[in-house]
Amino acid sequence: MKKSILKNIAIFFIVVLAIASLFSLYNLDSEPVENIDIQKMVQEINDEKIDKIAVQGNKLNITLLDGTNQSVYKEDIESFSELLSSYEISPDKLTKFSREVVKEDTFSMLMKSLLPTLLMVFFIGLLLWFMLRQVQGANKNAMSFGLSKAREQKKDSKTKTTFKNVAGVKEAKEELLEIVDFLKNPKKFLALGAKIPKGVLLMGPPGTGKTLLAKAVAGEAGVPFLSISGSEFVEMFVGVGASRVRDLFNRAKKNAPAIVFVDEIDAVGRQRGSGLGGSHDEREQTLNQILTEMDGFEPNANVIVMAATNRPDVLDPALLRPGRFDRQVVLDLPDINDREEILQVHMRNKPTEQDVNLRHVAERTSGMSGADLENVLNEAAILAARNNLKKITQSELLNSIEKVMIGPERKSHVLSEQEKKITAYHEAGHALVAHLLPNADPVHKVSIISRGHAAGYTLSLPESDKYLHKKSEFIDNIAVLLAGHTTEKVIFSEVTTGASNDLEKATKTARRLITRYGMSDKLVPRIYGEKEELIFLGRDIREQRNYSEKIAEEIDTEIDQLIFDAVETDKKILENHRDKLEAIVAELIEKETIEKDRFIEICGPKVSRENK
Ligand code: ADP
Ligand code: MG
Ligand code: ZN
Repeated sequence: MKKSILKNIAIFFIVVLAIASLFSLYNLDSEPVENIDIQKMVQEINDEKIDKIAVQGNKLNITLLDGTNQSVYKEDIESFSELLSSYEISPDKLTKFSREVVKEDTFSMLMKSLLPTLLMVFFIGLLLWFMLRQVQGANKNAMSFGLSKAREQKKDSKTKTTFKNVAGVKEAKEELLEIVDFLKNPKKFLALGAKIPKGVLLMGPPGTGKTLLAKAVAGEAGVPFLSISGSEFVEMFVGVGASRVRDLFNRAKKNAPAIVFVDEIDAVGRQRGSGLGGSHDEREQTLNQILTEMDGFEPNANVIVMAATNRPDVLDPALLRPGRFDRQVVLDLPDINDREEILQVHMRNKPTEQDVNLRHVAERTSGMSGADLENVLNEAAILAARNNLKKITQSELLNSIEKVMIGPERKSHVLSEQEKKITAYHEAGHALVAHLLPNADPVHKVSIISRGHAAGYTLSLPESDKYLHKKSEFIDNIAVLLAGHTTEKVIFSEVTTGASNDLEKATKTARRLITRYGMSDKLVPRIYGEKEELIFLGRDIREQRNYSEKIAEEIDTEIDQLIFDAVETDKKILENHRDKLEAIVAELIEKETIEKDRFIEICGPKVSRENK
């Protein structure tokens, strides 16, 4: 990219120079020259005004006594002397000036006549060269199509990633330390007859640091890191993917010890023979080539293939066979301690105020990945800069959490008085129910400032990270989700569109509870409906019904019952605690936002979990 800009500048200068030299050639005799006619020259001769006449071909260059330059063109057929005699000038006048014959420099004459043509040819040549080069470039691209576009991180690159850059994920790091050891001292393992692992598969949700960790392994071991993304393989031409794989592995072997990293391997490594899409054959060939290359490694080739995926469920089992990606490292979403550590890692190069409490940030970011956390910190830094602060404070951090979770604040989105009132009741309803139901998450913040698509929002977050959920939590959660709708209905006897997102979430939760988690009291615990993945268009997921019409009806009845019960719970709470609801609404309308501590002041301590 940069190179071509430089080239263009160079060409531009050449063209400018060429034009400039053309002009300068024509103006070699740059003193002003007056063109006169022959009569005038004869007149001047007779007036004895002339100092010198230089004959240059058909051009007569006249220098007057006062130093003025003039020029005259004579006819081709007569010589200068003939010209003079034909005007019958007296001989004594002819002695008054000196005469000189300038032999025209044939080269400059030639140049003058040829230059325009030469320049034309030059420009046309230039144009042709350009066009040719472009075609060649395209050709070259076509030729290098089969070469991998793998990016390479050299071993001594200054911005080397190491395990220090990766926070949390302790187990994964421990497991990968072994790989680092293999790469550093292969002899130690070979001496004991151990086979060096060929492939490591990193599995985990997006943004949990798979790519980062793979780089860190290369950084720790001090070996080159060749990376390519699975989705890059899937291009139009059949056979290209396979040849790229071949090239990639050849390069790795040349640079061994090295790490080959295939990001998003699910893009090529999906189960074979089940696809419908057009790129299916191509994918299969690419996958086969990867497997062939891995099988073809000599036992001490010292190239380790790392791959990452967030869809281990769709991978072809052949990839997971021993001798291929037999090491599998799982990365989970970070827990609260890991989140704090990740925040610390990314806070290192950011100036922060004393009041910043990363633990508190970690508490509020349950469920966020490392990438999300990095994003929160970045948003906080941007916000601080926009507020002309020198350091990031806690308030920017908390604000950016909400921005990342719900969407940007929309201060310009002014609610009308009536809308404000409805939103306040809606959010107060959510908050009150969340506060009073023992299995619902405690309220951290209620706000009627628009954010993203929401007119207002209630932030209720779990006290600690949870991996297992009980039915009672789902039941309470559904009630919290429906509380906004119910409150609108109870207070205004009419509902707005503001609750549709809540309804969707509540319905989904209720359905999952019955069809996925076996939590129905009436139906037997089994999975209802089979998820079927269509490879066609990548991510299409369709559910296939594997139950009868009768069961379908029962599922519907069960879902309806759950929703009905939740609404009843909400109604009861609203009836019994109307005073608290009104108190929250009044505060919201006045201040727009209520933080956790103030909320507890209004509503009293949170009703806690029964069996805690
Ligand atoms: P993945 O490949 O799993 O989708 P990445 O490795 O690309 O995720 O992570 C994206 C970014 O998130 C990283 O560049 C890093 O800044 C941040 N990140 C994710 N996990 C961690 C972690 N455990 N420690 C530090 N930073 C992390
Ligand atoms: Mg990645
Ligand atoms: Zn709502």
